Amino acid sequence: MPQNSSRTAGRHFLQIPGPTPVPDRILRAMDMPVIDHRGPDFQKLGRRVLDGIKTVFKTASPVVIYPSSGTGAWEAALSNTLSPGDKVLMYETGHFATLWKSMAVKLGLAPEFIPSDWRAGADPAAIEARLKEDKAHAIKAVCVVHNETSTGCVTQVGEVRKAIDAAGHPALLMVDTISSLASIDYRHDEWGVDVTVGGSQKGLMLPPGLGFNALSGKALAATKDARLPRSYWAWDEMIASNKTGYFPYTPATNLLYGLAEAIDMLHEEGLENVFARHDRHAEATRRAVRAWGLEVWCREPKHYSSSLTAVLMPAGHDADQFRKTALEHFDVSLGTGLSKIAGKVFRIGHLGDTNDLTILGTLAGVEMGLALAGVPVRKGGVQAAMDHFTAQASPARAAAE
Ligand SMILES: *Cc1c(COP(=O)(O)O)cnc(C)c1O
Repeated sequence: MPQNSSRTAGRHFLQIPGPTPVPDRILRAMDMPVIDHRGPDFQKLGRRVLDGIKTVFKTASPVVIYPSSGTGAWEAALSNTLSPGDKVLMYETGHFATLWKSMAVKLGLAPEFIPSDWRAGADPAAIEARLKEDKAHAIKAVCVVHNETSTGCVTQVGEVRKAIDAAGHPALLMVDTISSLASIDYRHDEWGVDVTVGGSQKGLMLPPGLGFNALSGKALAATKDARLPRSYWAWDEMIASNKTGYFPYTPATNLLYGLAEAIDMLHEEGLENVFARHDRHAEATRRAVRAWGLEVWCREPKHYSSSLTAVLMPAGHDADQFRKTALEHFDVSLGTGLSKIAGKVFRIGHLGDTNDLTILGTLAGVEMGLALAGVPVRKGGVQAAMDHFTAQASPARAAAE
């Protein structure tokens, strides 16, 4: 028996679908003295991140940055645009969509929830049909989760936009991109999204603590009549202050240093390359899952997530028992099944600052963990992922000059 040890060597494999590992470059960028957030040095940082973050959401409109988790940014989206009793159409893609709906109820809104079995993204046709019935335009907003982190299913936001337009309906479109931003292609302006909600700790590779609202002109106009109470979350004071590079209250200064670095890193790699890397890691992961003889939870290939893969456990085997085994033996953290699907699925995060070898290390941890937990699977998942990487070989580093 090995002696008890109070240290685990090597880097922990944080392979949950957020928070994600923070790259050294970002840790170093944040390792700075806190500065006066009303002083001249801050203004440069403020302008840099407020301009830079627009390129990640792909918008020319303002993006509000809160010192909050993603949940705060959800509340900001609703409270700045809606009034008590307003109808909102939401779609039950999974746990996070359900939480957003519960928040809408708590805020005094009247959400209508289109049900689903959690194994696909939102169906634009169902949204279109519901909006067409709403001849009086009682529905004030349509809210969808782009990447449903509890299930690994993606909603095609461009299609939802088309559905709203096809119904000729004036509802605002609000989208949660907390686990897709900077991992899966997203286009706030092109897709006509009114409020996009984001968070720092997933694709943006930062620690938790920043929430985002990307806005549209229509969303800004909606605030004028929106009567839900708001103060901390109010966009108007934020935007007024942000115009000069400052914030109305103390911002998360050191996270903003990290954000500036993250934005630079995303553009050095190229956003399209970042998305292609995530697609490649997701495909390798799904190949491993199938080689083990297990099932990818997301039923629709066109909805497969490039941020994470949820995996269905064989009947009679508890996902959390397996996760515990993998953590204890191989120091890899995997995502748990949330609410309705607790114990039935585990989730492999492959978003953020990952490369082929971290994915292979993760999959090796899963494959060995499954074996140790006595889950009946075939070997060869890691091999299937390696085969995919070698068949799709692309240089990970820029070639030498
Ligand atoms: C993580 C997550 C949230 C919650 O964000 P917090 O930062 O934990 O408040 C909401 N929606 C989705 C899709 C998420 O992945």
